[in-house]
Amino acid sequence: MNSDFESFWEALKSSKDTAVFTGAGASTLSGIKDFRGKDGVYSKPWQGYSVEDILSIPFFRKDPSIFYAWAREFCYCLDRFKPCIVHTVLAKLEEKGMIGGVMTQNIDVLHQAAGSKRVLEVHGSPSNHHCLKCRKTFSYDEIAPTVMDGKVPYCDCGGVIKPDIIFYGESLDADTLDACFDWATRCELMIVLGSSLTVQPAASIPLYAWKSGAKICIVNAQATPLDSTATWHFDDLKTFSEAIENHLDNE
Ligand SMILES: [Zn+2]
Repeated sequence: MNSDFESFWEALKSSKDTAVFTGAGASTLSGIKDFRGKDGVYSKPWQGYSVEDILSIPFFRKDPSIFYAWAREFCYCLDRFKPCIVHTVLAKLEEKGMIGGVMTQNIDVLHQAAGSKRVLEVHGSPSNHHCLKCRKTFSYDEIAPTVMDGKVPYCDCGGVIKPDIIFYGESLDADTLDACFDWATRCELMIVLGSSLTVQPAASIPLYAWKSGAKICIVNAQATPLDSTATWHFDDLKTFSEAIENHLDNE
C-alpha cells in the first residue's frame, strides 16, 4: 500500500477542496457494530422484530416503546463508545484545513466526539429530538436518562418524542442532502471511508463527485460498486488512518 499511499498523500496535500464520506466501517474500530454488515444488527431480528420494522415510522407511531427498548442497546449508550483513530485523524485533518469536514451515514456522533466541526449527518442522529405533536426540540442529554430508565419520552403537550434519526419511510433532510451534493460537485478529492456504498441516495454522493471530475479514494474492506471510479483503493481502515497520522506527525 505504501507507494499508493504516497501518491494519495500528495494528492491530499495539493487538493484545494477535499470531501470525506464515512459509513459504518468507520465506527467498527470503536466497537459499534455495522448495522448493515453481514454480522450487523440488521441481519437478525431483535425480540422477534426486524430492525427495518423497528426503525420504520409507521411502526414507531403505532408503538414507540419497541423502538425505545431497542434503542437502549443501540442508540442511548453512546457514552460507552469512544472515537477511534479514523475519527481522530479526520478531526486533525479538518483542524489543519486539509479536509472541509465530514459527511457521514453514521448516527453515532463519534465524529463530533473526536472534534470534527463540520459534520453532515445524512441519516440524522440522536443528538436532537423533537415532539411529533408540537415540534418542540430536545437534546440527547435531556432524553437519554428517560430512555435508559425504560420509559418512552413524552413532551409536556402529550406528544411522543422522536430522535432526529432518519427512519424508514421518512425523507432525508433536504438541506443536509443539498449541502452534501453541492460539496460533492465542488470537491477535487473525495475520500470514502468504511462504506459499502449500497444505501441510496447517500451512496450516489461519491458518484456525483466523480462525475464532476473529483478524484476518488475508497477505503473499505469489501468491494464497492464505485471501485472502478477510484484512483486509490485501500482495504484496511486502521492501516490507512495510521499512515495519515504518521504523515501528519512528520510534516
Ligand atoms: Zn409537544
